[in-house]
Amino acid sequence: MIDPYGRSITYLRLSVTDRCDFRCGYCMAETMTFLPKAEVLTLEELERVCHAFIGLGVAKLRITGGEPLVRRDIMLLFRALGRRLKDGTLQTLTLTTNGSQLARYAGELAACGVRRINVSLDSLDPQRFEAITRRGHLQTVLDGITAAREAGLAVKINTVALKGINDDEFDELIAWCGSRGFDLCLIETMPMGAIGHDRADRYLPLKGVQADLERRWTLIPSLHRSDGPARYMEIAETGRRIGFITPLSHNFCASCNRVRVTCTGTLYLCLGQEDSADLRMPLRASRSDIPLVATIEDAIARKPKGHAFAVERGATRPAVARFMSHTGG
Ligand code: SAM
Ligand code: SF4
Repeated sequence: MIDPYGRSITYLRLSVTDRCDFRCGYCMAETMTFLPKAEVLTLEELERVCHAFIGLGVAKLRITGGEPLVRRDIMLLFRALGRRLKDGTLQTLTLTTNGSQLARYAGELAACGVRRINVSLDSLDPQRFEAITRRGHLQTVLDGITAAREAGLAVKINTVALKGINDDEFDELIAWCGSRGFDLCLIETMPMGAIGHDRADRYLPLKGVQADLERRWTLIPSLHRSDGPARYMEIAETGRRIGFITPLSHNFCASCNRVRVTCTGTLYLCLGQEDSADLRMPLRASRSDIPLVATIEDAIARKPKGHAFAVERGATRPAVARFMSHTGG
C-alpha cells in the first residue's frame, strides 16, 4: 500500500477495546460511557481486519486500546496472529498495555511470538501513580513488568510528561529503566477527547525537558528508529535509550508509515485528522473480504499529508474530538 505522498503503509495499530481498568486523567474522563457491545468488532471481525491488512502488506501490528488485556478472550486473537508470525506473513506483533494484567498474560504473549511490549508508567510513586491513573495500583503494574521480563519480553516504558505532576521524576525513571535494561519514551500530551479540564495546564514541551536532562545525563543522538514517531538518544550513563515523542512541537508526518483501526472498525488515516473509513460495514455486509480490502485500498489513497494538532491555552474543544482510548495510542 503506497499512499498519495509515496509513503509505504506497513504498520497497523489496532484498538481491540475502548474499555480500561484505569482512568488516566489525560486520556479519559472520570466517568466514561463505554460503547455498546454491538458497536465493537467481535474477535472474529478483528481477526479478519488483521488478515486483510497483512494481505495488503502490513508487516507490523500493534494491539492497543483502551486496555487490550481487559478484553475477554483476547488471547484468541494473539494466538491467531501468532500463527501469521510463524508462517512469516507477519513480521512483528506488539502491544501497548498499562501492565495491570501482565502478570497473568506475559508468558502466553511470549508463547504467541510477541517479543517486545510497551508498558505505560507515568510515576514510580504509589500515591502519585494512583492519582494519575485514578484507580491503578503501582505494585500490580511493577509485578506485571517483572513477569514480562521473566518471560523474555523486551519492555519499553512510555511516560506521558505532565507539567507539575511527574516532571520531577524523569531522572528517577531514567535510572530505574537503565538498571532493568528498558528503553524509556517520553510523550507529550496530545489534545484528544474532552477530559473535563484544560489540557494546556499540563502540556510540557519535551524540547525543554531534553535540555534539562542534558545537564545531568550524556545524551548522544541515536540512529535507532522504532517504527513509531519517537526520536531516540543513547544515554551514556545507563547504556539504554530515551525516546521523545513530540507530536506538537516536532512534525513527524513525512515518514509516517502507519494507520489505525478503532475497536468499532473505523480506519483512521492519521491520528490527528478526522479522515476515516468505516470497515465495519463491509465486514458485516459480506462474509467475503473482497469489499473490506477494497474499502481499505480506497482509504489509503486518501491518507492526509500531516496532522493539525495544537494545544492552545484556553481552547474549549480538543483538536480531535475522539478519545485516545477509542483510537488507540
Ligand atoms: N491502555 C494502554 C496503555 O495505557 O498503554 C494502551 C492504550 S493508551 C491510549 C496508549 C498510550 O497513549 C499510553 O502510553 C498513554 O499514556 C497514551 N496517551 C493516552 N492519552 C494521551 C494523550 N492525550 N496524549 C498523549 N498520550 C496519551
Ligand atoms: Fe487506560 Fe491506557 Fe487510557 Fe490510561 S492511557 S486510561 S491505561 S487506555
